[in-house]
Amino acid sequence: MPCEPIYFKRDAKRFFCKDEFIRYFEKKVMKTINKWRMLRRNNKIAVAVSGGKDSMTLLHVLYKIEQKFPSQLVIVHLDEGIAGYSDIAGELVKKIAEELNIPLYSASYKELFDFTIDDIGHMYKKKKMLAPCTFCGVWRRWGLNYLALKAEADRLATAHCLDDEAQTILMNVLRGAFKNLLKLQLYPKKAPNIVPRIKPFREIPEKEVVLYATLMDIPYVDIPCPYARFGQRWDIRTWLYEQEMQYPGTLYNILSFHRQLLESFKNIEMQEEVKKCKICGYPSSSDICKAHQLKQYLLESKED
Ligand code: SF4
Repeated sequence: MPCEPIYFKRDAKRFFCKDEFIRYFEKKVMKTINKWRMLRRNNKIAVAVSGGKDSMTLLHVLYKIEQKFPSQLVIVHLDEGIAGYSDIAGELVKKIAEELNIPLYSASYKELFDFTIDDIGHMYKKKKMLAPCTFCGVWRRWGLNYLALKAEADRLATAHCLDDEAQTILMNVLRGAFKNLLKLQLYPKKAPNIVPRIKPFREIPEKEVVLYATLMDIPYVDIPCPYARFGQRWDIRTWLYEQEMQYPGTLYNILSFHRQLLESFKNIEMQEEVKKCKICGYPSSSDICKAHQLKQYLLESKED
């Protein structure tokens, strides 16, 4: 049967039919994992699954790839406490964990930090304070590491794709956060109390993740977070999308720029002292880590 083209990859200037695209996508993930030495054969991998398209696709692809290796998968999931969003996502993650028979480790922001994102959303609307995404992003990082440590995982896999990576690099540039740019490491890095992170989708555009999910009938929660538009990331995302449409390859060029930057600075020691957070004991650049600083900020804002 002739191959029916379903996707034109603009930067490669070629068409793909369904089977070709599926093969291309899975091979690309494997190549990315090997290129950045993300995994070893018998690693225990904690896959961060929110229930959205990217993470459900990551779980699906890693489940397929890892059948060939003696590795082990566990799912780590955080409940942000966003009504009509987190509850639906949580149910789907539970269901997929049962179906695939993968151990599930979950926790909520309420259990870990005493606040839900909805609590913060209410406070944000009442008074001028940091936007919900600021808390959510920092707590997610902390919470996923906490769960991966609990699961005794060797790696923490997140579904950040090319678009996410380019947005993060640009956000750090716009904020003048040079040190943060250097901290966005390419290879999994070991440190006490930190499970090395890997991003197998870091070189794959979001639209290809969506296409793969659609072609493979992967279930996911397709409800936008009600707070998504409050953060700076939303504006950068929209702008970058337009740039990529007009100048294909822009996203990949940003990633490549960042890689060259890291290579130029690889022999320079970061002068930052690594301390232990007085509350959780995790590595921190100050006496209290960012996640717990934000909790204290909320407790103080509540009293104002
Ligand atoms: Fe959290 Fe913001 Fe993402 Fe919503 S959009 S899930 S608040 S980071």
